[in-house]
Amino acid sequence: MEKSSAERFEGELQKEKKRLEIELKQLHDENLNAAAADQEAGGDQNHEDHMADGASNVFERERDLSLEDNLKDILNHVNSALHRLQDGVFGVCTRCKKQIDDKRLNALPYANLCIECKKSEERPVAN
Ligand SMILES: [Zn+2]
Repeated sequence: MEKSSAERFEGELQKEKKRLEIELKQLHDENLNAAAADQEAGGDQNHEDHMADGASNVFERERDLSLEDNLKDILNHVNSALHRLQDGVFGVCTRCKKQIDDKRLNALPYANLCIECKKSEERPVAN
C-alpha cells in the first residue's frame, strides 16, 4: 500500500476511534445515570420521568447496552486496524491473507476480512 493512502486510512481510523470513544462514554454515562435513578427510586434531582414507565425503561436500557457492545466491537476493529497499519499489514485479510478490495476498504477502513471471507463468515452454520 502506498504511504499516502496508509496515512489517509490512519487519519480516518483515528477520527473514527475518537468518535466511538466519545459515543461510548456518553452511552456509558447515560446507563450509569439510569441505574442510579432506579436505585435511588426518585430520591434526587435526576429522575425526571424515568420512573413513569418501568417496562420501557428496561427495554431502553437493554437496547443501550447492546448498542454499547456494538460500539465496543467496532472500536476493537478500529484498534486492530490501527495495529495492522503499524505492522504494515493493513488491508490484508486476516483469514486468507489476500489483499482486501480497495472499494471495501474505502467504505469500511477497519475491515479485517475480504469480502469472500466475510461472506463465508456470515453464512449460517448448519447444525
Ligand atoms: Zn479473505
